[in-house]
Amino acid sequence: MIPQLRSITVVCALGAALAACGTGDPAGSVRQTPAKSPVPASRPPVLTPGPGGLTPVFAHGPRTLGKTVALTFDADMTADEGPRAAAGEHFDNPDLIGTLRRLKVPATIFMTGRWADEYPTEARSLGHDPQFEVANHSYSHYAFTSDCYGLPTVDPGKMRSDVERAYASLHNAGVPHALPYFRFPGGCYDQRALRALSGLGVTAVQWDVVSGDAFATDADAVTRQVLDGVKPGSVVVMHCTRSAAPTTERVVRAVVPELRKRGYRFVKVSELIGETSGHR
Ligand SMILES: [Zn+2]
Repeated sequence: MIPQLRSITVVCALGAALAACGTGDPAGSVRQTPAKSPVPASRPPVLTPGPGGLTPVFAHGPRTLGKTVALTFDADMTADEGPRAAAGEHFDNPDLIGTLRRLKVPATIFMTGRWADEYPTEARSLGHDPQFEVANHSYSHYAFTSDCYGLPTVDPGKMRSDVERAYASLHNAGVPHALPYFRFPGGCYDQRALRALSGLGVTAVQWDVVSGDAFATDADAVTRQVLDGVKPGSVVVMHCTRSAAPTTERVVRAVVPELRKRGYRFVKVSELIGETSGHR
């Protein structure tokens, strides 16, 4: 479908750039930390698994239950990007988070474990703020399919432990209740990847609106793409990584008041999943 094709173009640029940033230890070669359960005390809604416990996939909420929209922000950091962060590159974006707080926009952050390791104070702050929910974007931001826009690939036998390791990093950083939602790096998945994560209790979360903020330099173009794409129940994918998505804070300042003017209410992904699963 068309939104998927648009997403491929955008994520391709991101994947290519990430792939070009050097070779490090593959995700699976690092020491594994015992996993914490991904299920928080509040029991957020999840989708029912498929046959054999297959990980369910969510892309957007109901189209007929009112004008709700979920902004989602990926906190990408690939396992081998530590030296770039040490050299001063910002994989975080405090101004964007500040703007979301000022505008009182609930949002869902898909955080890599590597990002939580690098920015534990920010991870903790997000994890304790009821305006946000923090979910899992893998430990290493390596791909879960063999062909994902040039991203390094997680060994199939290490997929599950990569996700568990991310939950452990989030917990260690001070995120008390990371949600049982997982976003595949690059949005790339197949049946093997869904099977590999079976039993973890996570719902895979994709999107139906690509903001196009990755490596964008034209905030107006990104804003138009979001406004053109949003429908009731939409999930918008954006990034909270300043170096990879430098226009996103400006885009949020433009998109939020306009969507509110059009009657939209901002919600977290859990609310849309709850509506989809009949959980109110
Ligand atoms: Zn990502």
